[in-house]
Amino acid sequence: MTGTLWLVATPIGNLADMAPRAIDTLANVALICCEDTRRTGGLLNHHGISGAPLAVCNEHTEHDLIERVISQLADGDDIAVVSDAGTPGISDPGERLVRAALDGGHTVSTIPGPSAAVAALVISGLPTTRFVMEGFLPRKGAERRDRLADIASEMRTIVLYEAPHRLVATLSDLREVCGDARQVSVSRELTKMYEQTIRGTLGTIDVGEPRGEYVIIVDGNQHVAREYGDDEIRQAIDNELASGATRRDAAALVARRLGVSRRRAYDLGIKSATPTHER
Ligand code: SAM
Repeated sequence: MTGTLWLVATPIGNLADMAPRAIDTLANVALICCEDTRRTGGLLNHHGISGAPLAVCNEHTEHDLIERVISQLADGDDIAVVSDAGTPGISDPGERLVRAALDGGHTVSTIPGPSAAVAALVISGLPTTRFVMEGFLPRKGAERRDRLADIASEMRTIVLYEAPHRLVATLSDLREVCGDARQVSVSRELTKMYEQTIRGTLGTIDVGEPRGEYVIIVDGNQHVAREYGDDEIRQAIDNELASGATRRDAAALVARRLGVSRRRAYDLGIKSATPTHER
């Protein structure tokens, strides 16, 4: 009999959100892999759980833990993976241990529970039937620009995590690529005392001074599905030119926003109203 690797969700703020089966599982496993022993120790204490040793599992140590976890599973031990908050494996360690356990022929199961992504999505008021989890955006450079471009043309609702000190810059970048009219919902401190969700458009939303942890939900690009006429594209490019963009940037921005090819936008941009020598 080999053991089971349990992915155990823990609260994202309110300790009362811990599932009874999560408590039971953590009380009975032979090892708990966690990001921070102090934080998980506190959670275990709060629920009167003691016994299992804790092993630190973060982006640097997850790989090194694999051997130990696989060997204990092979010996028949059950092992839990938890993160600091929410569901392990979602913008948190866990994925590599799951892959290794499956490759080793072991059972992998979960005690499902809170995840900030799903919590923010379901209260956003934006479509929930089809959504895409983008997690944290790359911080800078071409990687960030490319990801933002993907988001601009994505038709499904988009879920993003963000730290407070980067929230305003990220909302501003989203506004630039998605346009002022795109609906957005920004949730902070979910399940905690200062929980707040602000809904609006990227052009008008005011998040105040960011404090706490944030999830940004962005409406999908509802426009991708329809065909744009040349005049509409030309008009959109003219608007960008009028607000100071170069012809090349205006074409690229409009192509992303309307989901039309860059070549078409550029060709139409060349023939748009504002004379080239002015740009
Ligand atoms: N695995 C976690 C989950 O399932 O929710 C997410 C881990 S990720 C490292 C942490 C990010 O989740 C935070 O930076 C924030 O964007 C979001 N987050 C976590 N708890 C939150 C809360 N209570 N309210 C809003 N966002 C939260």
